[in-house]
Amino acid sequence: MIELVGVSKKYGSFTALHEVDLEIEQGEFIAILGPSGCGKTTLLKLLAGFMGPTDGFIVMDDSTVASAKRVTPPEKRNIGMVFQSFALWPHMTIADHIKFPLDHHPNRKKESRQEVQERMGEVLRLVGLDSFSDRYPSELSGGQKQRVALARAIAPKPNLMLMDEPFSALDVELRMEMRKEIQKLHRETGASIVFVTHDQGEALAIADRIVVMNQGRIEQIASPEMIYTRPETEFVATFVGKCNLVKGQWQDGSFIPKINPHCLWPDLGVAKTFKKNGIYPVRPEQLQLSMVALNGVHGRVTFVQYQGHEIHYTVEISGETWTVHESVYSPRFYVGDEVTVGLKKAVKPEKVLVSN
Ligand code: ATP
Repeated sequence: MIELVGVSKKYGSFTALHEVDLEIEQGEFIAILGPSGCGKTTLLKLLAGFMGPTDGFIVMDDSTVASAKRVTPPEKRNIGMVFQSFALWPHMTIADHIKFPLDHHPNRKKESRQEVQERMGEVLRLVGLDSFSDRYPSELSGGQKQRVALARAIAPKPNLMLMDEPFSALDVELRMEMRKEIQKLHRETGASIVFVTHDQGEALAIADRIVVMNQGRIEQIASPEMIYTRPETEFVATFVGKCNLVKGQWQDGSFIPKINPHCLWPDLGVAKTFKKNGIYPVRPEQLQLSMVALNGVHGRVTFVQYQGHEIHYTVEISGETWTVHESVYSPRFYVGDEVTVGLKKAVKPEKVLVSN
């Protein structure tokens, strides 16, 4: 188990992390999600031991590894790291890349040549590179290079894997493939993973829990499904899945949109903060368009974007702009159409899905 308690980090007078509290269970897959500059890498560097916190402390397996006074360096922690840039050594073969941490990682006791060879074979097979062991990094594709970086990190069986945007240099197809690869490795190694990304789709697809960060603070920590269906702050609602924040009034557990007091929307687990501020967060796919009807919220379509499986509409409604996602099989609307926007019959999520 890893615990961050009141961890702050300042660079000079700038505070990059504000009193972060976080617990990571052994074997858990955590995604740190947030926009550029929110402090994701800073958090990862503190977990790795590249630097110490300005305040607070970090506990790993019952011992304090970092405080303002003392920091256990990375080579004394049982961690593996994978970076966006792969960071491979051009003069070393793939086999040498895997052998190096087996010879030098603090988690490895002195092993016989045969044991090292066996582990090398095992790890290369796991990432599907057993026939590439004599090649150099320049002789590999981007995806294969990232697999070498993964294999090197998992070879010494670390307790904790730290990954900083490990797939951002890869194309979309390869990213999807590598996500599955990581999930498979996670199941097979049992290591905890802290995975930094600014891609919400990636975080939703891959993690047991997502930590959403904004300006050096944690906004929400929850399972992907809870983050998506029950955001607790306006930032989470709009950063993950682009919610419409509809203004109105909460009355006896139902919501009345300001722009049509005749509508009554049900409470599908809306967080207290929204209720207090008279807001109903609604996902674009929870809304539907129809021809102008007497009852509903009236608006005009101002943009239409075809997305293959969906059509994305922008609708102007009494000075507010709403986004509506409809299936391509729904009736089509065009720029300038007068429409009615309604809430689809929605189901309250009761069971929390875990992606692994
Ligand atoms: P990105 O997604 O762009 O990599 P990030 O969420 O990982 O961003 P960090 O790299 O943790 O963000 O940076 C957090 C904030 O701290 C940023 O405003 C950044 O400019 C600042 N920062 C990071 N490193 C330093 C440093 N060594 N000195 C001063 N400021 C820094």
